[in-house]
Amino acid sequence: MQVSSSSDKSAVPMASSKNYCERDETRECAIANANYQKVLTVLDRCLRDDRCAVCRCEKCISDMTALALNFLPPHYYVDAGRGGDIGSPSVMVESAVIEAMKTVVKNPRHEK
Ligand SMILES: [Zn+2]
Repeated sequence: MQVSSSSDKSAVPMASSKNYCERDETRECAIANANYQKVLTVLDRCLRDDRCAVCRCEKCISDMTALALNFLPPHYYVDAGRGGDIGSPSVMVESAVIEAMKTVVKNPRHEK
């Protein structure tokens, strides 16, 4: 008599496997982080300044963007077409970008 090892797979609850956005005709579930645009704008302005001694390669710019976004609280919203000032206040975005630049200057992910 063979003893088959009892399958230890615990049942995965499938109750909520349905998609949230099931109404396919209105597929405008555009979600964006309001701080993303803000960070890009501030970073772009800083990088135009010649006194700003950071590397402007794609890698470093991506790093700085990601770091700055991580310093800020997420601010997701639905409907990209919406206007108005949403996201973190400019002062916060600016200091996040500055912190991110300092980090990347100290720690670039490539040879100088
Ligand atoms: Zn670089």
